[in-house]
Amino acid sequence: GKVYLNGNWINSKDAKVSVFDRGFLFGDGIYEVIPFYKGKAFLAKEHLDRLKYSLKEVELNCDISNFDSLILKAIEMAELNEEDGAIYIQVTRGMAPRTHSFPENYKATILMYAYKTDLSGFQNQFSDVLVSSDIRWHRCDIKSVSLMANILANTEAKKAGFAENIMIRDGFFTEGSHSSLFFVKDDIVYTHPNSPFILPGITRNLLIKLCKENNIEIVEKALPVSELNEVTEVFITGTTTQITAIKNLHFPDKDIKIGNEIGSITRKLQHLFSSEVKKQLGI
Ligand code: PMP
Repeated sequence: GKVYLNGNWINSKDAKVSVFDRGFLFGDGIYEVIPFYKGKAFLAKEHLDRLKYSLKEVELNCDISNFDSLILKAIEMAELNEEDGAIYIQVTRGMAPRTHSFPENYKATILMYAYKTDLSGFQNQFSDVLVSSDIRWHRCDIKSVSLMANILANTEAKKAGFAENIMIRDGFFTEGSHSSLFFVKDDIVYTHPNSPFILPGITRNLLIKLCKENNIEIVEKALPVSELNEVTEVFITGTTTQITAIKNLHFPDKDIKIGNEIGSITRKLQHLFSSEVKKQLGI
């Protein structure tokens, strides 16, 4: 398929980036993933606002004013107008001789493409996750392409046979390697507050809004590991994960079973989420 690279739509096999690109040398770049349903981008503004925030936080200069039209073009170029999928966007600090500090002058490298992926299979999944310690840096609110800690953690989960891991920092659950994390305790939904320790998930933020609109009590407070025994439902959320119910938590020394079936609040939020997608996109 065709990808967008620095102003041109070209075949992916012809899309080349310099070995001196700072994205390659340092992981000096920002990314974003935007879902689309039946060819229609969902929460594009929220995703592009987060991209803008990440770029600003790392002082990466790049004009993204045409990105809202580029993402539509990406869907078209991939001939996915009738499909479900996602748009991947990556912006790096361009090409420069290798020194840590930012180059004085640079031209950001911009990559964008759409790909097809299943966004409908989540309702009946009831998954297990590995629990690992959160070894990431203290700016997890930035959607940086430097994902070493995330890929190590997720690979550990995969080796153990699970799709995702959830992480603990200083005795509190933070989030997954590529998903946000929610708990239900006493019929109240808990999720980590937005802070430098988590990515402000777009799906997470939407779910908080849906809870508030539908009289489901939601508290943005990190769950201490010590309170896990009071938890009756766990689910993870994300652009491609959507809302996946969690059945078992695998710690290095023990397994904690959450439930025998997907919890009622998780189910309710899955339905509210699906309806919201349909409503917003008119599909
Ligand atoms: N946390 C992390 C670390 C992630 O990588 C992701 C996926 N981008 C999420 C949370 C979920 O965010 P979103 O709902 O915006 O996809």
